[in-house]
Amino acid sequence: MSRNEETFYPGPSRIHLAAFPPKERWDDWTELDSQAWPRRKERRYQLVPTTCFNCESACGLLAYIDKETNQIQKFEGNPENPGSRGRNCAKGPATLNQITDPDRILYPLKRAGKRGEGKWERVGWDEVLDDIASRIRKAIVEDRRDEIMYHVGRPGEDGFTERILAAWGVDGHNSHTNICSSGAREGYQLWMGLDRPSPDHANAKVILLISAHLESGHYFNPHAQRVMDGKASGAKLIVFDTRLSNTATHADYFIAPYPGSEAAILLAIANYLIQNGLYNREFVRRWWNWEEYLEQRSEVGDQRSEDKRDVSVSGQEPRSGEIFIETELTNERDSKGLAESINMSRLRREENATTSQNNEQQQTFEAFERSLKELYGSYTFEFAAKESGVDAKTIEEIAKLVATAGTKLSSHNWRSVTSGVSHGWSVARALFMLNALLGAVATEGGVFPNAWNKFVPKPIHTPPHPKMWGEKTANSTSISRAFTTPCGRTLTASHGSKR
Ligand code: SF4
Repeated sequence: MSRNEETFYPGPSRIHLAAFPPKERWDDWTELDSQAWPRRKERRYQLVPTTCFNCESACGLLAYIDKETNQIQKFEGNPENPGSRGRNCAKGPATLNQITDPDRILYPLKRAGKRGEGKWERVGWDEVLDDIASRIRKAIVEDRRDEIMYHVGRPGEDGFTERILAAWGVDGHNSHTNICSSGAREGYQLWMGLDRPSPDHANAKVILLISAHLESGHYFNPHAQRVMDGKASGAKLIVFDTRLSNTATHADYFIAPYPGSEAAILLAIANYLIQNGLYNREFVRRWWNWEEYLEQRSEVGDQRSEDKRDVSVSGQEPRSGEIFIETELTNERDSKGLAESINMSRLRREENATTSQNNEQQQTFEAFERSLKELYGSYTFEFAAKESGVDAKTIEEIAKLVATAGTKLSSHNWRSVTSGVSHGWSVARALFMLNALLGAVATEGGVFPNAWNKFVPKPIHTPPHPKMWGEKTANSTSISRAFTTPCGRTLTASHGSKR
């Protein structure tokens, strides 16, 4: 038998780890008791798959249940889990502490003294449920729904609680997200109508990370594995981090911009791609809402012209830089003034006709490309260097590297700069723009909307979102999208494929 055959685990992990018991033997697995050493005492286990929830990565674990005592003896990685593939961070096996910790709260407690006195009394579940349910009911019946709030650290489910609360007409679903990932989510949401990216680091050519992904970033264990897989296959790693994190130590390019200035660097990279025609033209033409943009731009232009005339006619002074049509209107609307008004109306009609003719000519993709060049032209490497404190030459080198990625640019930004600075959401937005420019979206080695990579059953009945408190979140789906998704899946009411 070759070494590979001895050690290869055939499950989703596809890795060589002899330590994993093959799943055919999970019902009855025998190991030597390490504590009995040097005696050779055998212990028999049943291995039960479970999930670590010491962070949201939700890695797979195997609970080793001693067949003699029926107690969990230890936790190890589950090689059948497609996310963690048998690998865990130190917190995974340490889950055992939560099973046996003497300070665990095993039953409901009710405050028995004043707040802060530390006095509690044990109560039964029925009492607790009746107490809380009757308070919630009273608030609903008395239409005090905004006095009900449900706070959860990490839901660990996909929308069930939200449905319950919506059915009650309550919008008080709270979590840490407001001060965590909401900024990043907004940036992604604006691009693709879904608020989470799912990067394919393992198959990427260039990996661009803004956060610490190898030890403390989001989904760090599953991501860390894929980042290292990608690197092992030759991917270049770029890391923006304010500190020399574990991720940064593995980077080909590590830069530490002034916190909050990351978007300036990303826009400079975008500008480099745009000015040098290094973006994926066909992807942009097909998937960006450039027609919508041009339409709105010309509407804004028309409106501005109207405003300028109105201001001129009403006798107000033009602002600096504005070009007004001069008239000889006087404040007293005499017959000369009336004639001028008529002439103005005709002039407007004629101009409108010319404008719409021009507009028709300008609604081309080439016009959009020209517009992109104008819009982003000021985001030079020098500008980004001034904003971020990073050398312009280094930013240029990074931009050139990003340009080589093609559709294999995997990028990720979560929390970090998006939560700690004003307008942090624009960092995630500018980052995903690079993917959208290169067409590295839903491609091997690119970034997927995360909902495409996981199954979430859609409930039959979904109550409408309550119209209170969260009017901004309730209306978020009406935000105009700059981008709709590939593969014919239009996620918003906006444009679909432009094949
Ligand atoms: S990364 Fe660590 S803490 Fe998070 S789920 Fe996986 S094993 Fe648990």
